[in-house]
Formats: sequence, structure tokens, C-alpha cells
Amino acid sequence: MEIFTHIKDLANYIHIKKILGYEIGFVPTMGALHQGHLSLVKASKGKNLLTVASIFVNPTQFGPNEDFEKYPRTVDHDIQLLESVKCDVLFLPSVKEMYPTASAITLSMPSLTQKYEGKYRTGHFEGVMLIVSKLFNIVLPNVAFFGQKDFQQCAIVKQMVKDLSFPVQIEIMPTIREDDGLAMSSRNRYLNEIERKKAVGIYQTLMYIKNMVQHEKSVENLIRHAHTYIEKFGFTQIDYIDIVNSDTLETLHYAYSENKPLMLITARLGTTRLLDNMYLYDI
Ligand code: AMP
Repeated sequence: MEIFTHIKDLANYIHIKKILGYEIGFVPTMGALHQGHLSLVKASKGKNLLTVASIFVNPTQFGPNEDFEKYPRTVDHDIQLLESVKCDVLFLPSVKEMYPTASAITLSMPSLTQKYEGKYRTGHFEGVMLIVSKLFNIVLPNVAFFGQKDFQQCAIVKQMVKDLSFPVQIEIMPTIREDDGLAMSSRNRYLNEIERKKAVGIYQTLMYIKNMVQHEKSVENLIRHAHTYIEKFGFTQIDYIDIVNSDTLETLHYAYSENKPLMLITARLGTTRLLDNMYLYDI
């Protein structure tokens, strides 16, 4: 695997590969890699794309009271994992390389960024839009791969690509889970043993509601049942539970299959926020 830390070097490399006719698949990450990230790399490799992964813990998407400093950094292990799935290129820039000076531009998409995660993480999606745009301009991917686990992020990136005419195809890949159903996440390592056992409650609640939707269509009732069910697992705080139209992220009143209902849950165990989602009908 080729590793680049400077934009200029990667840009030269990509330029030559494009002239040679390669199509580029891109997997942006913040590192602390797990099988969820690797599934995106495998999807890109599976399409015969020259696959570029990036590892960059992006400061502009962390709020002042969030975990930027202590976000897990496991670069050596990440490189081994990327090599194990034959990733072609790793872009591993420093903060100074990506932000030599503070950015003057702000990207804004209030209709999608201010709800759900945006309510709890002010400025988060503005930081995501900025770094994804910068990375797209550097890597010039034909296809970029994102995980369904971060569903709101997927919706925002898709809208941004459309509105700014980025010539990139966005592929959303299914959530990879631990054996008990917990969605893999770099932040799961913050959980202690007791919290780790409780964490499965999110997945179990999603499954419980997915079964219930066969005979109960009222979103109000489904959400009430979800709260009662998840509270038994001992979450310290439920940030939100909602059922939305998966195309528009608008809240639904009824979970009929034609409304493409997707259930979102974000809850905390101690200081760790866990988020997950599930389509209530198989798609
Ligand atoms: P992150 O490093 O958390 O910024 O994630 C990088 C990419 O991996 C994002 O597109 C995530 O949605 C995706 N991702 C994270 N966890 C999973 C998972 N469990 N399954 C599939 N994709 C994931």
C-alpha cells in the first residue's frame, strides 16, 4: 500500500493514475479501523476501483466539549488492517496539512444538519461537509463509500454532492455488527464491560420495533414502545428515538412500507454516545 501524507504527492499520484485510465474508489475514515471500515474498502475493491482510504481525525467536526484529543488513534494497526484487504493507497495527512490556516468558508445545510445529531453536536456536520469536500477535491474519486450507520451523514453528503455538482457517485454500505448485533464503532472501545453488555439494547430495540411494525403502524405508539423497551437495558440517557422517511429524513406519522421508514436511535452509556438505525422493512 502506498502511503501519502502530503496533498501534493497524492494529487500527483492520482493525476498519473487517472491518465492511465484508473477509476478511483474512496473511503474516508477517522481511523481506529474495524470491520465496518474494511467492508467499505472491500466494496471499493470489489468494483475494481483503485482504492484510496484516508485516515484523518478532523478537528472541525468535533465540538469544544467532545473527544477530539482522546479520539482513539491506532495508525500502525490501521495500516496492517488496510493492507490485509489490499487497499491500494492510504492518505494520512496532518492537521496542518489539511488546515494550514483556519478555513474562512462555512458550508451550511440547515434543513438536514440541524436535527438529530446536529442538535446534540453543534457544528459537527458543517465540519463533516468541509472535510469531505476538501478530500473529494484532493482524491478526485469516481465513487465514494459511506456507512449506513451514520445515516444523517449519508443524507447530507448525498445532498451536498448534488447541490455542489461533485462528479462523485456515493455508495452507502450496510452496517457491520458485532456477533450480538451491536453496530461496530471506533467509540465502542470507550465502553467498560458492564456498559458493553447493556449496549446491545439499541440493536435489540431496533429489532423489536421492526417486528412490531408488522401489526402496529402508528409512529407515536412505536416510539413509545421503543422507549419502554430500551430503558430496561440501563441507558443513562436516550438522546432521540424517531422513525423517519429514509429519503427525506422527515418524521413520519405512520410506518407503512411505502413511506420507507427508518428508525434512528441515539443513546448514552456513561459518557459514550451510541448511534444506530434500521430500515423497518427489508429493502
Ligand atoms: P468514521 O471513521 O467513524 O468517521 O467512519 C468512517 C466511515 O465508516 C463512515 O462512512 C462510517 O459510516 C463508516 N462506518 C463506521 N462504522 C461502520 C459500521 N459498523 N459498518 C459500516 N460502516 C461503518
